[in-house]
Amino acid sequence: MNDQLKLLIELQELDTAIVSIADNIALLPRKLAQFEDPLKEASTLFESTKKKSETLNKKKHDKDLELDEVQDKIDKLKTRSNDIKTNKEYEAHRKEIEAFEKNIHKIEDDILALMEAIEAFAGDVQKEEAKVKSAEEDFKIQGKLIEEKKIKLNSEIDICKAKRNDFAARIDKNIYDQYMQKFERLGGLAVVQVENEICLGCNTNIPPQLFNDIKETSKTYTCYYCKRFLYYQEPPAAAENPQTTTPSS
Ligand SMILES: [Zn+2]
Repeated sequence: MNDQLKLLIELQELDTAIVSIADNIALLPRKLAQFEDPLKEASTLFESTKKKSETLNKKKHDKDLELDEVQDKIDKLKTRSNDIKTNKEYEAHRKEIEAFEKNIHKIEDDILALMEAIEAFAGDVQKEEAKVKSAEEDFKIQGKLIEEKKIKLNSEIDICKAKRNDFAARIDKNIYDQYMQKFERLGGLAVVQVENEICLGCNTNIPPQLFNDIKETSKTYTCYYCKRFLYYQEPPAAAENPQTTTPSS
C-alpha cells in the first residue's frame, strides 16, 4: 500500500469520527429536552393544585364574611327585643332570629367542609411543589452534564481536526481534491475496504484482477461502480499466522 493511500485511510477515519461526534453534539439539546417535559408537567400540576387551593381559601373567606354579616343581623335584631310590645310582634321577631340562626348553622357547616378540603389540598400543594423542585434539580443536573459532554465532544472534534489538517497537508493536492469530491458526493465515505472481492462502499463484486492488483501493487485504485478509493487489509486472524505475515522491512 502506498503512503498516499495510507494517509487517505487515516483521513477517512478522522472525517468519519468528526461527523459522528458532530452528530452527537447535535443530539444533545434533544436529550436535555427529555428532562424539560417532566419539569413542565410538574409545574402545570403544581399551579393547578395551588389555584384550586386558592379558590377554596377564597370561598372560605367569603363564608366567614357571610357569617359575620348574619351574626351582625341577629345581634341587631336582639337589641330591638325591648321595643316589642305585642305577642304577635314577639312571635314574628323570634321566627326572624330563628331563621337567621338556622342560616348560621348552614354557613358554619360549609366553613367546616371548606376547612377540611383546604387542609387536604395543603398536603397536595406541598407534594406537587416538592415534585417541581425535584424535577428542577434533575433538569439542572442534566443541563450541567450535557454542557460538560458538549465541551468534551468539542475538544475531541478539535483534536481530530488538528490531526486531520496534519494528514491533509501530506496528501497530494490532486488526490486530496478527489477525496473531498467523493466525500461530499458519496455520503461522507470516500475510502473503503475491499473484502472477498467486494467493495464495502457499494457492496458490489469487483473483478478478481482488480482485487489482486489492489492486494499486490502499491497503486491507488477506485471502485468501478461507486468510484470510491479502495484498499485491502489482511484479516486479523490471517495476520496472526506467521506463514502469511509479510516482513515489515
Ligand atoms: Zn464500490
